[in-house]
Amino acid sequence: MAEPGGGHAPRRARLIVVGGGAAGIWAAARAARLGGDVLLLEKTPRVGTKVLASGGSRCNLTTTLPGDEAARLFGPAGARFLRKAFGALGPAAVRERFAVLGLETVEAPLEKVFPASQRARDVRDVLERDARAAGVKIRCGVPVSGIEPSGGGGWRVLTEGGGAFLCERLLLCTGGASVPSTGTTGDAYPWLRELDLEVVAPRPALVPLTSDAAWVRELAGVSLQAVEVRLIEPLGGRTLRRRRPVVFTHRGLSGPGPLDLSRHVTAPGGARELLLDLACDTAREDLRRRLLDAAARGGVGTLARALDLPLPRRLLDAACRQAGLADSRARVSELPRGARHDLIEALKGLVVPLAGGLGFEHAEVTAGGLALSAVDPATMEVRGRGGLQVCGELLDLDGPIGGFNFQAAFATAELAGRHAARGG
Ligand SMILES: Cc1cc2nc3c(=O)[nH]c(=O)nc-3n(C[C@H](O)[C@H](O)[C@H](O)COP(=O)(O)OP(=O)(O)OC[C@H]3O[C@@H](n4cnc5c(N)ncnc54)[C@H](O)[C@@H]3O)c2cc1C
Repeated sequence: MAEPGGGHAPRRARLIVVGGGAAGIWAAARAARLGGDVLLLEKTPRVGTKVLASGGSRCNLTTTLPGDEAARLFGPAGARFLRKAFGALGPAAVRERFAVLGLETVEAPLEKVFPASQRARDVRDVLERDARAAGVKIRCGVPVSGIEPSGGGGWRVLTEGGGAFLCERLLLCTGGASVPSTGTTGDAYPWLRELDLEVVAPRPALVPLTSDAAWVRELAGVSLQAVEVRLIEPLGGRTLRRRRPVVFTHRGLSGPGPLDLSRHVTAPGGARELLLDLACDTAREDLRRRLLDAAARGGVGTLARALDLPLPRRLLDAACRQAGLADSRARVSELPRGARHDLIEALKGLVVPLAGGLGFEHAEVTAGGLALSAVDPATMEVRGRGGLQVCGELLDLDGPIGGFNFQAAFATAELAGRHAARGG
């Protein structure tokens, strides 16, 4: 068994962590602090590459929401799975840990938390420093190519170029398949499948949506702050809502609202339309009254003026057209009774047809991954595969924008690290 590159790193370690992202560095440091002998293998030349790219290079590292509310945003199955992890390391505890590491954090709108310095690099640096100080041996530029049970309850970790390492415990933290240039190319999915474990088909999430409708693309550049995005879940039929900004692009829709719901569009048989409540601060009855009052005044003013909504004209015109009207310059007096209802419905739920989502290159996270039923949520140990643990985005877990995905990575890593150090 040769060490890749011919170095003098140990060929054996009690715990090997594969993947030096948010989850891997956190778990390795936790296990080492608790007394573990830990070797971390990272395929790219440095750890925390995705941390550096995150949050517009500011790194939205967690949320101000309490743990149970944060967990709920991962859907029913995700919330159930994360209950113990967020109980052990909730968002407030993540901030406290960073404070102990010397990184102050600040709150930002939409329940976000950033480093006070606003530099993702500082987040990466304190995590790496902590891991090294705890005694973690970090080997970068070591792409793992496979894993196999080594007999005697341990694991063999194979690396590209024919090297191998042996360990008693193995923790996989290789992330998902989104933004492959950061090192995450879905390498571990086949390893897990070869162990007969269920991997839910990975698909892009937190990804911009595409639309073939010319009118949608023509709105490119229009952005809305006060808007509610709705979508009917393809499987299950629940109506999902996010009140988050929306941006029209030359491909379709982007911005936090559409991104947060994109996992339901990229799913097999995914949703093919999304509804925008363009007047989410105004009740239907108020809109109706505005139109009726304008009609009572003679109806000579335009629809745009009568409605008095803070909307770009082009968007108001789109809603009018969806209601069968020419545009928002039509006079209120020209509005047939049925059209009034249709116009209000178009404003409260502008139907945007969708073709799908952009690919993994544009996705902030990956939906799908190792099925949660295969993993013990208290320890991140893979059921029936002694000594093997998985945490972070490699699991079938993905949350909305707002620091939730790092929160899940850190919290699942915390439990994995603690359990690994105990020796299972
Ligand atoms: C552009 C962008 C911005 C984001 N911004 C935010 C944000 O602000 N807030 C937030 O909460 N989330 C954000 N995310 C999501 C967040 O980055 C991830 O959810 C989080 O990094 C997952 O952590 P992880 O450790 O599980 O995986 P990763 O951080 O992806 O780490 C996996 C590591 O494993 C390594 N690896 C993969 N295969 C191998 C192999 N074969 N051998 C060895 N090593 C391997 C990779 O190189 C990588 O370093 C963002 C994502 C992107 C792409």
